[in-house]
Parts: sequence; C-alpha cells; structure tokens
Amino acid sequence: MNPAPSRRQFLGCLAAGGLAVGPAAILCAGCDREAATGQGAEATAPPAPAPDKQAAATWEPAYLKLHRSGELKKRGEELWKRMSPCKLCPRTCGVDRHQGAKGFCNAGGDLVISSHHPHFGEERPLVGRGGSGTIFFSHCGLRCVFCINHEVSLEGQGARRSTQDLAQMMLALQAKGCANINVVTPSHYVAHIVLALDVAASKGLRLPLVYNCCGWEQLEVLKKLDGIVDIYLPDFKYASGEMAAKYSSLAPPGFEAERPEVAARFSTSDTYPELTKMALLEMQRQVGLAKPGPDGLMRRGLMIRHLVMPSRVGGSTEVVRWIAQNLPKDTYLNIMSQYTPMYKAFDHPEIARRITRAEYDEVVNAAREAGLTNLDVQGDPRP
Ligand code: SF4
Repeated sequence: MNPAPSRRQFLGCLAAGGLAVGPAAILCAGCDREAATGQGAEATAPPAPAPDKQAAATWEPAYLKLHRSGELKKRGEELWKRMSPCKLCPRTCGVDRHQGAKGFCNAGGDLVISSHHPHFGEERPLVGRGGSGTIFFSHCGLRCVFCINHEVSLEGQGARRSTQDLAQMMLALQAKGCANINVVTPSHYVAHIVLALDVAASKGLRLPLVYNCCGWEQLEVLKKLDGIVDIYLPDFKYASGEMAAKYSSLAPPGFEAERPEVAARFSTSDTYPELTKMALLEMQRQVGLAKPGPDGLMRRGLMIRHLVMPSRVGGSTEVVRWIAQNLPKDTYLNIMSQYTPMYKAFDHPEIARRITRAEYDEVVNAAREAGLTNLDVQGDPRP
C-alpha cells in the first residue's frame, strides 16, 4: 500500500494512459502499493513478452471450473454472509455491513472503487503488452501511516458501484487486451469480487485473477478462494507484530468517538507476522510456484513482495529468511526499494525518509545468503 512509483514507472503509466480517473488522478494510482519491478540491475529488464496466441487459447483460469459447477457463486454467497457480522479480514470487527455499519476499514455494505485501467508498472510477467488490468478498491483494513495512496485507501475516495459494474470493468479490461484482472486491496470486498467474477465468467471472462493483497488475511477466507485465484500477489511487510501495530493500525478519524463499540472490539495488526506466514503457506498450497508461460506471462503461482523500510522497521532480514526456510527456494520475491515517506509517516522520524543503498543491499544479500534464487531486485534507492 505504500511503494511510490519511480519517475520511470510514473512516466510509463502516463505514456500508457494508465492514470486513474477521478480524485486520485494526481497519483499514478496503479503504482501505489506495488509499483513496478524489473527496473534494476538484477531484473535486467527483458523485452516485453511477445503474445503467444496458442498459450492464451488453451489456457483457462482456475475459476471457470467452479463457475460451471455453480460453486463460484456459492462461494461468493458464503463470503457475503461473512460481512454480517463482518469477519472478512483479521480485524474481525463484527459490524453488520449489510446494514451499512462500518468497521475499522471504513467500508460499509456498498462497493466503492477508485479506478480501473491497464497498468504498466506491475511486475513484468504480469504486464505483457496490454498491461495488468488493475481495479483499485477504496478503503483498506490494514491502514498504514505511510500509505502513498491514502486518499483512496484511508480517505475512501472512489465511486459507489454494483457487482454488475465490477463485472463489466473486468470484461472491459479484457477487451482492452490486459494480461490479467488484478484486484488491488481486495480483502474487504472479496465477496463482491467473487460474485462479480461469476457474472463476468458467464459473459466470457477468461483472464487470470491476481489477488493483490497485504498478506494479513483471514485463513478461512483464503480457503474459500481455493480454485478461484490464479495468482496471489501478497506483501510480507513486517517480521514484528509490534512494528505492524505501530505503523499499520491507523484508526479512521473520529473512530473511537463515532464507533465506540467497534473501537473496543477490533483487532490490531500485531498478529501481522503470524497470520501472514499462515496465509503465505496457504497461498503456496493453492497455487504453487510462480512460473511464466512460454510467452513470458504469469498465469498461476505465488509472487511475494517485500518493501524495504528505513531503520529496519520491517525486519527485512527475518522476513527473507522465513521465506527461504518455509517456502521453496525459488519462490518469486520482489524486494522493493521504492519506500517514500507519505501521509503520517512524518510523525515517525525513523521512517520519515527514503531508504539508503546500504539498507537495500543488506536485504538483498540476506536473501541470497538464505538461498533464495528467484529475486526481483530493483534499481537505486535514493538516500
Ligand atoms: S476491517 Fe475487516 S472485519 Fe472490519 S469491517 Fe472491514 S473487512 Fe470487516
């Protein structure tokens, strides 16, 4: 939810017409939490994958089988029930969102979407020639103090939409030639997403579904996504629950006064490392290693992102060692260098700056020493 776009990524999105429409248009919204990779020395920027019509013609997304059997709709309805009382994310606020109540994420029952567009700043195997078909959801359950996209994720900018609208967005992105449907910050709207996917599948959607999330997920919800998601794209932000609670539990303004019952009940993010580790293992079980097809495009697998933060607050060396010890050594790991202090980060001097080259190199070296072999390493972090 934080990484800032590099100038190159930002210009790339501009060139591709990838700017969000609406209030968030001052940002390259698509680069918000995950700007690109493949910009640095190790990534070596291979040429964009050539389209492979044969691979595309024979491949099917995981959710089609469940759509045909009726299971996809059933899962969407089961997730829908988890909104009342809401336990879609680890905050487990227990508010009745179907009655319009809002939990810690600030999302009620209505679906709110900031933008949808082809995005050229994502990891190269997700972009191809048509871009990644990103759909940015408003609000967020994690709520990081340094979020670069705070207008959308924390302040809720966006427009109210129906699940039918969301299905149409998916189909429109496919018609534009996007390589996948990339749902960004999806967890609090996962029921809407699965129901919309079922509608879109009935109308011809055939793109892989990328679940682009913060990593801190409810295991029960993830299990409902088994056979639905093709590519998991989670963050692994923190090794320490204390750091997660400090930097990623920013309550909405007036929260305690307006919603005292929720404030007394919601869970903080100090469970971030524990739950994220469980989530990563479940994701790996469901989709396995991420391996690009003959055309260079990724259609299935686990792709992890770790944002290196200043002053070692993310516990990066511990994060990469855990991945090496608990997942295959060739697990895809994007080590991101683009941290930029934004929003309330300036209230915390230790994270009120960009990272240094030494801080970034320390993490890359730790990942290599731990035996990880499928690293996406980025360009120069500016001190
Ligand atoms: S913060 Fe999580 S549990 Fe609370 S209302 Fe939002 S999605 Fe539901």
